[in-house]
Amino acid sequence: MCATPLEQGRFAPSPTGPLHFGSLVTALGSFLAVRHRGGEWQVRLEDLDTTRNVPGADAEILLTLERFSLNWDGPVLRQSQRIDAYEAALAALLARGQAYPCACSRQDLRQLAAGDAMAVYPGTCREGLPAGKPARSFRFKTSGLETVFHDELKGELRTHPEHEGGDFVIRRADGPFAYQLAVVVDDAFQGITQVVRGADLLESTPRQVALQQALGYPTPRYLHLPLVLSPSGTKLSKQTGARAVTPDAVTLRAALRFLGQPEPPASLGNDMKKILMFSAEHFDCKNIITE
Ligand code: GLU
Repeated sequence: MCATPLEQGRFAPSPTGPLHFGSLVTALGSFLAVRHRGGEWQVRLEDLDTTRNVPGADAEILLTLERFSLNWDGPVLRQSQRIDAYEAALAALLARGQAYPCACSRQDLRQLAAGDAMAVYPGTCREGLPAGKPARSFRFKTSGLETVFHDELKGELRTHPEHEGGDFVIRRADGPFAYQLAVVVDDAFQGITQVVRGADLLESTPRQVALQQALGYPTPRYLHLPLVLSPSGTKLSKQTGARAVTPDAVTLRAALRFLGQPEPPASLGNDMKKILMFSAEHFDCKNIITE
């Protein structure tokens, strides 16, 4: 008899600052969802964008997770050490005609889009680079693709990436691999079966599913969590200077409340390990308040 492989979840912060309440909610949601199913929780540092990395933020994030007793399984994966894997994926996509070099600069595209921020890439380089223009980036070809994935809160979502942004960049003009490609390659490498993350990434998911299909990877289950907003109504983020969380039981209980999960008994006091055990056992994504 074969043992069923364990569910695998992950938390994938970019080390652009300390863990704030919004990223704690994501860490906690992904931890509880997978622990509820008896699975493993992995941590991946998404440090490819060296212009946004903050020195020391990686160590600080990991320490804060530990202080909350959010203990991960296996080694921490760093995207900066995975360049060979992304190179191989890009080469495979190019070999299958599923990606192509693109000479368009942002300015070219802005002019073509005439101020339309939602504009679909016009396909200028899809059939070859314009004469005399060097390749700047690489794009993934979305023509004719349909993606379907299951979000635990929103149900089945079906899209045509061709009409939503169109062919997207998988390697940037300034060198680094794009988030979309790196995430897909790493989720497959880490055997991730459920992706829990903020709703701001919902619009990236169809692109990632399209890449999974092209690379022959399985599509995980998804759960996009409501965003924690600042008092001014914008997403709480490191870029807008959100404060570092205090790793204590009060903050942990507040994050559980944000996720609509049952209040852990007062008798558990400040024992964060016990609070997490209780919450993993009782986790139910149907309790999440989506308004
Ligand atoms: N690194 C991304 C962030 O910090 C999260 C990526 C993901 O969960 O897919 O926003």
